[in-house]
Amino acid sequence: MIKDNDSDNKKQGYVINIQPYSVHDGPGIRTIVFLKGCPLRCKWCSNPESQKKEPEITYNSSKCILGSGCTECLSLCSDDEIRKTDDNKIMIDRNIDKDPNIFANACPSKALSVYGKLMTVDEILKTVEKDSVFYSRSGGGLTISGGEPLNQPEFTIELLKTAKKRRMNTAIETCGYTDWDDLEQAMEFLDTVLFDIKCINEEKHKKFTGVSNGLIIDNFIKLCEKFPKLNKLVRTPVIPGFNDSEEDIKEIVDFINGKSNVSHELLAYHPLGRPKYEYLGRQYPMDDVKLDDEKMKKLRSIAESVNSNRDIFK
Ligand code: SF4
Repeated sequence: MIKDNDSDNKKQGYVINIQPYSVHDGPGIRTIVFLKGCPLRCKWCSNPESQKKEPEITYNSSKCILGSGCTECLSLCSDDEIRKTDDNKIMIDRNIDKDPNIFANACPSKALSVYGKLMTVDEILKTVEKDSVFYSRSGGGLTISGGEPLNQPEFTIELLKTAKKRRMNTAIETCGYTDWDDLEQAMEFLDTVLFDIKCINEEKHKKFTGVSNGLIIDNFIKLCEKFPKLNKLVRTPVIPGFNDSEEDIKEIVDFINGKSNVSHELLAYHPLGRPKYEYLGRQYPMDDVKLDDEKMKKLRSIAESVNSNRDIFK
């Protein structure tokens, strides 16, 4: 049995959540580790708590018992930092220079909580290993997601490396907007990569995600050239008003067609992350849009033309 290096296992990263029993994020049954930090600001993002690298305080007013006389958080700092509003809620200055855990720990009703907890490689893998019986039966394992996992590159690479030493099946979900060197290093310890390609049109990409797609496209080309045997699943979230035309999907299909070991999956837009924007004190950036079912069916049939090895993800 290979012994892990103790000092590496103690490497820490900011984790949002560890979610067991997923069947949508790589082969078999998987545990998803969501890490904090992302270089993109996609308008439709359903995990806004993953965008900033640092821990963040959240406030769910429906759990707050301020109306019943609780003032625990208000007593911790000045009115400039936290204050009561006219409609019996609290207003927090989110740039406050204090550990957000102080407020979360003081709140008796869990109306205040923190997204982002420091965990070591070892702590994460101990949690993930609890479900190892499901992995061996289903071909599943660990998937690292986010945010962008390679926004914490050293930590993510160490997590993958140690998981591989423990003979786990590994996958990563990446937006592709990372340093090539980090991506290349991570690939050494991966069985599957789930790679987002959202749009080929650079201007539209910039407008809806905040960044150019040049680096993403370059990284995907290099990935296919250098790791032809690696299983790659390209994922495209279909967003009304952004990339929900046949032309947009065909452009992506044309780009990935012919590359080795690549499948393509379309993910339908949903606004389920909307309440989290309110908890974080932010505006939801999308208009009230809806994805047409018939259109989605048609777009899926276009995407299926590259799914020659789709069965590897069953
Ligand atoms: S401590 Fe929690 S429950 Fe009490 S007022 Fe503050 S947010 Fe509301």
